[in-house]
Amino acid sequence: MRFVAATMKHETNTFSPIATPLASFAIGRPSGKPPSGSEAIAGLTGTNTGLAAYIDLAREAGAELVVPVSGGAAPSGPVADAAFEYFSGAILDAVRRGCDALFLDLHGAMVTESHDDGEGELLRRIRALAPELPIAVSLDFHTNMSPDMVAAATVMTGYCTYPHIDMYATAKRAGRTLLRALKGEIRPRIVWGKRPMLTHTLKQAPSMQPMKDIMDKAMAVEAAGFVLNASVFGGFPMADIPHVGLTAIIVADEGQIAFAERLRDELLDEAWRRRADFVYASEPLAKSFAHAKTLEGGPIVLVDHGDNVFSGGTQDVMETVAEAFRQGLADMAVGPIWDPAAVKAMVKAGVGAKVSIKLGGRTSMPALGLQGRPMEVSGTVRRVTDGRYKVTCPMNTGITLDHGISVVLDTGTAEILVCSERMEAFDLGVFRHAGIEPTAKKYLLIKSRQHFRAGFEPIAKHVVLLSGPGVTSSDYSLFRFERVPRPLYPLDADMRLST
Ligand SMILES: [Zn+2]
Repeated sequence: MRFVAATMKHETNTFSPIATPLASFAIGRPSGKPPSGSEAIAGLTGTNTGLAAYIDLAREAGAELVVPVSGGAAPSGPVADAAFEYFSGAILDAVRRGCDALFLDLHGAMVTESHDDGEGELLRRIRALAPELPIAVSLDFHTNMSPDMVAAATVMTGYCTYPHIDMYATAKRAGRTLLRALKGEIRPRIVWGKRPMLTHTLKQAPSMQPMKDIMDKAMAVEAAGFVLNASVFGGFPMADIPHVGLTAIIVADEGQIAFAERLRDELLDEAWRRRADFVYASEPLAKSFAHAKTLEGGPIVLVDHGDNVFSGGTQDVMETVAEAFRQGLADMAVGPIWDPAAVKAMVKAGVGAKVSIKLGGRTSMPALGLQGRPMEVSGTVRRVTDGRYKVTCPMNTGITLDHGISVVLDTGTAEILVCSERMEAFDLGVFRHAGIEPTAKKYLLIKSRQHFRAGFEPIAKHVVLLSGPGVTSSDYSLFRFERVPRPLYPLDADMRLST
């Protein structure tokens, strides 16, 4: 048997001003292209990734495995057409050469310059080329599901966690079901549905209510074998596209269809009934800092979720850092702040040099009418690093992250990590690789939303969420939604479901 497996991951924030060329999928790679073939297999085997699960399943099945491409980029604006065509071309070529099954690890919220639905377009092309090919698709919890995606897939599963710590397990669930279908044991059918709601990313985690009840039910039903797979997708709200929303996907054998349809309706009805619990209320920054200053012990993790990289944030909005300085917080580690020009200037100045620089604020956010505003900072260049470290927390365990050349700027009250490539702070390695011990600090001011919980929550004495400005702001009224379906909750707060 010959299997093809590939990864194509991008969560597109259509409001983000950050471009997404092919190079964004190949950070630190001189070729400018994402890994493929034996390099991808060697690099991902044993990691907590979807592709690692597909590699293991192919080995178990004694199948030859072809990996035409495996790449992902940090969330940002729409993916360049050339980048999408590179992924699509590589995967279609591999399928064209002949295979018995295709295993895809996709995000589910990719928007390209030409397609609102990157994954749907990819799957539509594959299906046109290979109408009978069995296709397993594992997806991120933030998938905005589309009819094209569902129509082309044989099996689909999504992460049950946020922070996402079940990447390997999710692909294994999809892959195992497809292998059973290949053996002729089952004939999977997909039953699915959607509710017109933008769930807030701070209120949608399956570890918290209201999603906990809903996801627990889906997982329990799958574990009991009443259906083959059951997944609920919170959806990604920072996308001005027609297919946003909360989705349930049930993969069922032929005899389970009626049960699967009932389960789908129960999951979706429960989410809709509790829709108000998926809304997040922001508070002013000054109030959050005032609260942080009353807290005893440390580290106190201050989370700037309005400029969250893994939702498309520019990672250079300085308002929360400026407010921390204004409020007189000390003994802080901050960052990373994305500012390649500042990194260059500080590397040139050299370790030990005293510098006064304009930090961050280089990116304007026209979709929100926000101008980039740098912050004047003075301090000592403490360290220069290559920005690379291996993840040890439960999310993406074992993979190497790359912030590019990074610098620690010590202002006396804060050690600010400044990086050259955008990357969310979710693993303690972000500070430790730069000689900053996070457990020894009173405050850690990071740009994240939910993924920091994978690495930082275990050491956090307290967590304080900061509603700073940026393209991942929690205030939906700042976003000009023009292409989402209306009515849509909570944009249309009093809406009723049409039946
Ligand atoms: Zn996600």
